Amino acid sequence: MAEKTLAAVKTGPATTELREFELPDVPADAALLKMEVAGVCGTDVSQYKLPLRGAPLIMGHENVGYLAKVGRAFERHKGFTEGDLVFLEHYLPCGHCEWDHAGEYRHCAATEWFYDPTAIRYGYTSIAIAPSLWGGFSHYVYLPLNAVVHRVPAGLSPEEAGIATPMSNGIQWTVIDGGVGPGSTVLIQGPGQQGLCCAMAASAAGAECVIVTGTSRDARRIAVARQLGADEVIDVQQEDARERVLAITGGRGVDVVIDCTSGAGREPVLLGIEAAKRRGATMVIQSEGNATFADFPIGRLTRKGMTLKSARGHSYRAVELALSHLASRRFPLEFLTTHRFGLADVDYAIRSVGGDGAPGAIHVSVLPWQ
Ligand SMILES: [Zn+2]
Ligand SMILES: [Zn+2]
Repeated sequence: MAEKTLAAVKTGPATTELREFELPDVPADAALLKMEVAGVCGTDVSQYKLPLRGAPLIMGHENVGYLAKVGRAFERHKGFTEGDLVFLEHYLPCGHCEWDHAGEYRHCAATEWFYDPTAIRYGYTSIAIAPSLWGGFSHYVYLPLNAVVHRVPAGLSPEEAGIATPMSNGIQWTVIDGGVGPGSTVLIQGPGQQGLCCAMAASAAGAECVIVTGTSRDARRIAVARQLGADEVIDVQQEDARERVLAITGGRGVDVVIDCTSGAGREPVLLGIEAAKRRGATMVIQSEGNATFADFPIGRLTRKGMTLKSARGHSYRAVELALSHLASRRFPLEFLTTHRFGLADVDYAIRSVGGDGAPGAIHVSVLPWQ
């Protein structure tokens, strides 16, 4: 009889149940990851509420674990062997398009789960696609040959390595896309795990001034921001954020604006345009779902010669930089890793990230074997 394994399965909007699966055979060109830590982020909060698209699924897209079974072709092709501690990217690229050769797997058409029901992405893929183990809220995750794995540097715990996803986004958006470097002034809006990772990235890149904004509800996170690279913090409900940014920068405005808010509507974009320096600033933004923007001040944007970029995940290189940044321990990571839950508490873990569960959550980990 086949060995059984356990996973937390999303069976409907905001509904999870534990289910048993058969542990799949591992062919020569595949591997099995024994999960240690699955990070939970704001995307989980928004995805969890949505109706199923077809069959149930195992969520969990920020995954760290030990390679438990490794096929010979997988080992030869990937250079990993049984017992290696790895961070798994959530993209499963086709492997031969222009984006994949550049390490920009997030742009590969094969990872567009939103438009293509056959596309596989860890944490987003239905259990109807064999062998079902496509998410990290599970004892095991299945890795085909096109899985993208990174070695976790020595000295980094699995839980700390679980920060690699927001940290790689932070490096991608702040340093690679935003162009933050020595002497930069940076406004980071939103002090969640993503904003805090952007603050660390900006500070580590040599930024002269890192400003992090939040609301009064974020008091704890704003305090943590100071530990993780922020030079100045602003409570946008207590202070005029634009005035403060201009005062901090001697009336000049910032070089780079990063939007890491969620559910804040158009305000962060409007503030970003006003807080940007007179000419040539860059603003990296994300949007939620099908958001539209009435009366977008495009004239103001073009008059200031601003560059607008989209925050869209991370490249292979950003993940490698994130792992080495975390391993450097430049910042006290224990301020970030606030909560950990077992497999039976996945629902509560996701709600905690959404501010509707355990208080004070910043980075939340699911430890599937607990
Ligand atoms: Zn995430
Ligand atoms: Zn591709």
